[in-house]
Amino acid sequence: MLQGKRAVITGSNSGIGLGVAEALAAAGAAVVLNSFTDRPEDHALAADLSARHGVSVRYIAADMSDGAACRALVAAAGGCDILVNNAGIQHVAPIEDFPVEMWNRILAINLSSAFHTTAAALPGMKAKGWGRVVNIASAHGLTASPFKSAYIAAKHGVVGLTKTTALEVAGMGITANAICPGYVLTPLVEAQIPDQMKVHNMDRETVIREVMLLRQPSRQFATVEQIGGTTVYLCGPHADQVTGTTLSVDGGWTAL
Ligand code: NAD
Repeated sequence: MLQGKRAVITGSNSGIGLGVAEALAAAGAAVVLNSFTDRPEDHALAADLSARHGVSVRYIAADMSDGAACRALVAAAGGCDILVNNAGIQHVAPIEDFPVEMWNRILAINLSSAFHTTAAALPGMKAKGWGRVVNIASAHGLTASPFKSAYIAAKHGVVGLTKTTALEVAGMGITANAICPGYVLTPLVEAQIPDQMKVHNMDRETVIREVMLLRQPSRQFATVEQIGGTTVYLCGPHADQVTGTTLSVDGGWTAL
């Protein structure tokens, strides 16, 4: 379905970004993986994805906290038809104790990077008359929780940026949408489960249901495969008129 398209996915050497890369490669797109590291295992991920799906996959190191590096990533990729802004970090602290450096870093990586990559990608998309911008926001782009001020401000910002992008390119064959996942079972989340089991003295299933997924009515994690499939849908022809919107994959969290 996506043969002939090139996708750039920021922050894609693990978790949701890698799941999205897997789904786009399986749908036939050429893929550019990214993170800020430049290790042999990063390039090995690209070689493995390429071998399994028979598509071109490259890994390009670029630090998404640096606006110039964000723009350089898109240039080094040779432009892109599909841009997935996924890189993100988190920090948890009350506002009055929130480290200023961490506030600035979260805003840079989780929000400003999407501004820079989108600015770099749109001219090429406009020239081709086709493009897809998929921003990985969060349920926290639509609702809040205490102690995550920077993350929640950034993710609400991503939703606003998505709407503005959509309006600026409406009618040009380009769409921009935000996926808003609830709690997704990534390696990062998986690694927290044993600690949570210890702290709460609960078995795995109970700690997942009663502690980690308290706000997710389905009491089930979303999966990276589901976020990947949602991205493929947004890149496909059935979503040609889906633009400027948010798509929640959150087990009902934001319906509460
Ligand atoms: P993750 O830590 O596995 O992935 C984050 C990715 O961003 C990694 O590839 C990391 O290397 C990359 N990254 C971090 N800093 C970077 C930088 N400076 N430059 C380039 N890349 C950088 O976590 P994840 O859960 O897969 O998160 C991916 C996205 O999904 C994030 O934007 C996150 O906010 C969002 N999200 C995650 C969940 C969840 O429950 N896991 C829920 C909602 C939204």
